[in-house]
Amino acid sequence: MTTFDYAARMRRARVEMQERKVDVLLASLGSELPYLTGYTAMPLERLTMAVIPTIGETVLVVPELEAPRIDPIPGLFTIRPWGETEDVIAIVADLVGDATTAMIGDHTWSVFLLALQEALPGTSFVSARPLTRALRVIKEPAEVELLRRAGASADIVAGLLAQHRFSGKSEAQVSSEVSAMLEANGTDTAGFAIVAAGPNGASPHHESGERMITAGDAIVIDFGGTVGGYGSDTTRMFHVGEPSPEYNEVHNAVQRAQEAAVAAVRPGVTAETVDAAARDVITAAGYGDFFIHRTGHGIGLDGHEDPYIVAGNSEQIEPGMAFSIEPGVYLPGHFGVRIEDIVVCTDEGVERLNSSPREVAIVE
Ligand code: ZN
Ligand code: ZN
Repeated sequence: MTTFDYAARMRRARVEMQERKVDVLLASLGSELPYLTGYTAMPLERLTMAVIPTIGETVLVVPELEAPRIDPIPGLFTIRPWGETEDVIAIVADLVGDATTAMIGDHTWSVFLLALQEALPGTSFVSARPLTRALRVIKEPAEVELLRRAGASADIVAGLLAQHRFSGKSEAQVSSEVSAMLEANGTDTAGFAIVAAGPNGASPHHESGERMITAGDAIVIDFGGTVGGYGSDTTRMFHVGEPSPEYNEVHNAVQRAQEAAVAAVRPGVTAETVDAAARDVITAAGYGDFFIHRTGHGIGLDGHEDPYIVAGNSEQIEPGMAFSIEPGVYLPGHFGVRIEDIVVCTDEGVERLNSSPREVAIVE
C-alpha cells in the first residue's frame, strides 16, 4: 500500500486556503478527506467531518463507533469521537468558531450543510472545489504509478475479453464476469463494468440488464477498478461475428478520432483543443451529430474530476494531469462505438496508461 505524504498535502492545502482567504476547510464525504488524511468517511447518517483550520490543529469529528477504523497519523490530526446522544453539529460549530469563510466539500450531504449554516449564521460557506482542484489536478508520481497499475490490470482484462464467449449470455452476466476478472487481475475492487449490446450500445451510460447477447451484436464494454484508490476507466469494442460495413466505418472513425486526440495532448495545449481534435475527425466522417458527450474527464481519487476535456474549457493541459480520451458515436436503434484510454500529460507529450488493441475484437 502506497502511503502518501499527507503532512505535505495539508501544508499545500493551507497555503491555498490562505491565498483564498478561507479560515477553515470542512471535509466529509468525497475525496478531500482521504486526500488530506488517508481516511475515508462512511456514507451514513452519522456525520464524519474533518475541521481543518488555516492556522491551528485539524480535528476529525467521527462517530464513536467508527473511531476504531481510523489509523491516526501522528501530528496530522486529533480525533474527536462523538457519542450517540451528543449534538454533532454543535461540536463542529464550536470547532469552526468565529470563522468568516468556511470551505465545504461538494459531496457533503445537504442535511449537514443546512444544519451548519443554521448553527453558524456568521460564517459564509463556499465550495471546496477550487481548492481540491488546485491540489489534485496535477498528480504526484506515486499517484500516476497507481493509475498505471490500474490501467495495466484493465488491459489484462481487455485481452481476456477478446477470447471470451458472449453469445447466449446477458449483459448483466458479462458485467459481473468483467468485475470478477478485474479483481482476479490486480484491482482492489470489482469496480464497474458497463456492458451494452446491440442497440443498447447507443446509450453511453447504459445499465447492463437482461438483454441476451446474440450474433450480430456490437458490444460496448466500459470498465475499470481501483488500485490504492486510483481507478482505471477504459472502453473496448467487441462484435459477435463479422461486423457490417457500416459498423466498420463508424469504428474506424472513432478509432482515428481517439488517436488524434491522444496525439494532441502535450503541455500547454487547451482542453478544448484536445476535444476538437477528436470531434473534427468524427464530424469529417459524417457522424458529428452522434458524438453526444465530451471527449474526456480527469481521473484520480474520483472517477470523474478535473480537468474536463470539453468544448469551452480553455484551461491548459499540464504535465501530471491524468484524464480519459473517449470519443464515441451513438446511432439510436442500431449500435454505439466508444474507445477509451486514460492518458497522462508528460513533460514531452503524453503517456497512455492503456495499451490493449483498439480494433474491434471479433468474438463468439
Ligand atoms: Zn469509461
Ligand atoms: Zn470515462
